[in-house]
Amino acid sequence: MNEPLLIQILTLFPEMFEGPFNHSILKRAQEQRLIEFRFVNFRDFAYDKHRMVDDTPYGGGSGMVLKPEPIYRALQAAKAVKPDAKVILLTPQGEVFKQERARQLAAYRHLILICGHYEGFDERIRAWVDLELSIGDYVLTGGELAAMIVSDAVARLVPGVLGSENSAVHDSFTENLLDYPQYTRPFEFNGMKVPEILLSGHHAQIEAWRRKQALKRTAERRPDLFQKLVLTEEDQRLLKEE
Ligand code: SAM
Repeated sequence: MNEPLLIQILTLFPEMFEGPFNHSILKRAQEQRLIEFRFVNFRDFAYDKHRMVDDTPYGGGSGMVLKPEPIYRALQAAKAVKPDAKVILLTPQGEVFKQERARQLAAYRHLILICGHYEGFDERIRAWVDLELSIGDYVLTGGELAAMIVSDAVARLVPGVLGSENSAVHDSFTENLLDYPQYTRPFEFNGMKVPEILLSGHHAQIEAWRRKQALKRTAERRPDLFQKLVLTEEDQRLLKEE
């Protein structure tokens, strides 16, 4: 059996992860030993009398800044657990996290995510990381929610985590394309019917309909993604259809 993907999270608030990581798909993935989460509280690596992890900023200004030493020591301890860690810092100043990056990270065997807090972290921490990730252009109180989002998106792409290997194939963004619309029973609800084609049993036509919906939807909602698509002749034909 393959070794699980180990995701170690350096955080001052490990309890925050208890809910999101202990339900549904992530819970099952851990039970099946496909993923393993470990939490390293870098307060445990602050050796002064008051176990201080933050301090006031040099040069003045508001808020507290995370000190480099506890994070450095925690990182060394985390790296020692398993070789070849990819070290990721969560920061609004990082690369904006996308599905393609999630796919790459799912191929690693060991990820370490560092969560900042308060006003941020001492700039020198940046020297020890391989990648900086932001989950979007807004500022959170801490990196914990960002680490949960990155972990969740990566974990579901680890082979075996989603019941069927194909479950992620049509996901939005897989191919710069949004997902096609889905329907389930009942056939009619509040006067709204399921498109007839989906009941036809004709697999090729259903595939073509889904492809057309995905293309049209992407063109309307995400022209930025649509621009990056390499359209086949069949795609162009589908787009011209009503
Ligand atoms: N002063 C910092 C700045 O403007 O870059 C923001 C600090 S924020 C209040 C505290 C911590 O939350 C950050 O160090 C980072 O770990 C995390 N964080 C906040 N917004 C984030 C985002 N959009 N993506 C990833 N992490 C974020």
